[in-house]
Amino acid sequence: MRKILISLLTLFLITFYTQAYTSPENKAVFQLGNDKFTLNNQEQSMDTIPIVKSSRVFVPIRYIAYACGIDDKDILWDMSTQTVTLNSNNKRLSAKVGSKQLVNNGHVVDMDVAPVMINDRVFLPARWIAEAYNYKIEWDQASKSILIYPRGNIKPHPPEQPAVLLVNKTHRLPDDYHPDPLDNYNGYQVSKSMNYPLQALFTAADEQSINLGINSGYRDVESQQQIFNERVSQLGLQEAKSAAALPGYSEHQTGLAVDLEGDSNAYSWLKANCWSYGFILRYPKGGEEITGYSYEPWHFRYVGIPIASFMHANNIQTLEEFIDTYISD
Ligand SMILES: [Zn+2]
Repeated sequence: MRKILISLLTLFLITFYTQAYTSPENKAVFQLGNDKFTLNNQEQSMDTIPIVKSSRVFVPIRYIAYACGIDDKDILWDMSTQTVTLNSNNKRLSAKVGSKQLVNNGHVVDMDVAPVMINDRVFLPARWIAEAYNYKIEWDQASKSILIYPRGNIKPHPPEQPAVLLVNKTHRLPDDYHPDPLDNYNGYQVSKSMNYPLQALFTAADEQSINLGINSGYRDVESQQQIFNERVSQLGLQEAKSAAALPGYSEHQTGLAVDLEGDSNAYSWLKANCWSYGFILRYPKGGEEITGYSYEPWHFRYVGIPIASFMHANNIQTLEEFIDTYISD
């Protein structure tokens, strides 16, 4: 009996010991601008996006904590001191918004950047947090992702595509570009990912007695060439260039852009509300120098709710500015 008790006690101690001193075992991938991340090959959603600032990737507290194996209940936020504490069995890590000092079990580590707060959300520099938990962290330039994994393990796969597709006068679509699967909306082809959000936008407009129509969705290379040629014959080459895109340079070729029709009331409703359905007004008034296009109150680009709401909350008018500030740095 005594022997059994000792064995049980030993087993308990071993179990307790290994739980208390867990070594890194997660694999996580975060991509700039993407509200999906993978944790141990499972795709998960975030309510906001990872961003770059001062050449460092920042991930919202909760999700970088998950990647490092920290549960919700162990994430503590002290509003009065603006300090976040991650409190796992054997480690207590504290970081303060605006301070480059990371406190790791009482030891101060000097980081090269400080946690930031954006729209009441705290973002932590991913590298410093992951390394504090003994994870290896690697940057994948092609996909703009960070890979977090245990040292000595095979690294997880980065996603294939950049999360935010930028198409403009200086960002041409690759020659072998194929749009994501297309779907039909009211007789127009649009990206499958945009179909439901577009329906939701139209329903919301209808509820406000706003009359909306659609008059362009996906275009292939040939129809884009045709539109450009028509503009050249109407306006001449120079003018045509700020009114229509050359083939390869049009957002319509992605299936992620639509031209909507309505009166000025409809356009002002769209401008104010489109973000909550994941759309942005792509060529705003005053943005000509940045976008390269004249004001187009009808052209909307689907970027998804996390990016659209981030841009709205931060009062960012153009996709170029969003990418320059938070994705490309
Ligand atoms: Zn358009």
